[in-house]
Amino acid sequence: MANIKFFLGEELPLEMHKVRMVQRLDLVPVERRLKAIEEAGNNTFLLYNKDIYLDMLTDSGVNAMSDKQTAAMLTVDDSYAGSATFTRLQDKIAEIFGKEYFLPVHQGRACENLLSLAFVKKDTYIPMNYHFTTTKAHIMINGGKVLELFLPDALDSVSSKPFKGNIDLNQLQKLIDEEGADKISFIRIEAGTNLIGGQPVALDNFIETGKIARKYKIPFIVDASLWADNLHFIKTRDEKYKNLSTREITRILSDSADIVYFSARKLGHVRGGGIITNDEAAYKKLLEMLPLYEGFSTYGGMSTREMEAMVVGLDETMDEEMINQGPIFIKYMVDELVKLGVPVITPPGGLGAHLDAMAFLDHVPQKEYRAGSLAAALYIASGVRGMERGTISEEREEDGSDHFAAVELLRLALPRRVFTLSQVKYTIDRIAWLYENRKLIGGLEFYEEPKVLRFFFGKLKPTSDWQEKLVEKFKADFGDSL
Ligand SMILES: *Cc1c(COP(=O)(O)O)cnc(C)c1O
Repeated sequence: MANIKFFLGEELPLEMHKVRMVQRLDLVPVERRLKAIEEAGNNTFLLYNKDIYLDMLTDSGVNAMSDKQTAAMLTVDDSYAGSATFTRLQDKIAEIFGKEYFLPVHQGRACENLLSLAFVKKDTYIPMNYHFTTTKAHIMINGGKVLELFLPDALDSVSSKPFKGNIDLNQLQKLIDEEGADKISFIRIEAGTNLIGGQPVALDNFIETGKIARKYKIPFIVDASLWADNLHFIKTRDEKYKNLSTREITRILSDSADIVYFSARKLGHVRGGGIITNDEAAYKKLLEMLPLYEGFSTYGGMSTREMEAMVVGLDETMDEEMINQGPIFIKYMVDELVKLGVPVITPPGGLGAHLDAMAFLDHVPQKEYRAGSLAAALYIASGVRGMERGTISEEREEDGSDHFAAVELLRLALPRRVFTLSQVKYTIDRIAWLYENRKLIGGLEFYEEPKVLRFFFGKLKPTSDWQEKLVEKFKADFGDSL
């Protein structure tokens, strides 16, 4: 994809693909949207697709697959053990990442389960640039302590820093000096830092972390789920590396780490995941657990169809025209929102556009869940489903009080090659309307709250009748229009 200058003045992202299979969508009326969000307990995870116009919940497992990926799914070698499909996947991974051992799993968090079981020692630290929800839960269940060593600008919502996902190397060194290397189970860096707005990590940051890890013999583990976005940003934002190929950059990343793991729901556009390493001892330790939690070593919970599509998907991830489609659409959306004065995380990252609910709803108390309220309000106003990434996505403190998130985000994921520009423009328009009417939006409170990862199944209700008022205003402004 590329931004192309139009004769009539606009400069727009132009798709480098054509759509050859489509799915019908409905935009249900605003009254139905009000009812649907109530039925879903104001939790967008609990909405049903029939009520959703644009599903911007996540990029996980919902990126469009290519014609070649779909074709590959017909030529699989199905067998429990020793399938040729698995060998093709293993070879492709070795070709791209330069690592010999590959453990297949059913999705990204399964890697986190195995890695935490194998390597998290009780009461040790696991320093990282930033946590991811399921990562943190797995580490904590196994008695480890998550330490986030980000740089101060990581949480600045308005910024021009190109790599806000970097780990703070000075804090890392200080931790090792003060606590000792044996108090650290492993160091983790997440590419394309999910929870702070899909912000990338510089290649040098991976390299330097790898050097420190080797010096103190601490394992260095990279979460490469969002590597496609991160790779695009290294190519476009880092003078030092922009002339290297995507394959060369990927190899440097992989060489810096002892273990790389990923969700193939994002990296590779299928439904699966995997752990990669050259460390035979680590491989053997993980391999012992693989059949217990995932499946035999040549499928690990994935279907052979998905594995065959992954071979093609990983290859296509090395194609800049493919990986830039997400970030370029996201940049378009963020730039337009900035022009309209809507608070949004800058610079644009990967994964999606991230509305800054902390600023958007500064009149709503943080204990009434600003990002969750904004997610519900946007759904009512547009039929667009986003994901709360704020306090609701955090676990409560031991004393039962809320742990306020450092950032309150409404993530609007733009899975690759799924939406058209007019759909993105529609979303921008409804956000602009919502911003204009933001004072009508109120807060939420829990009425059903699971103990772990409450954002998945928790249910909330509005703290006043603000949703009805929002619908009234919508109807006044848009008339009979949906
Ligand atoms: C999505 C994601 C995961 C978990 O992957 P699943 O396939 O959803 O289990 C882990 N880490 C990061 C950074 C992710 O974005």
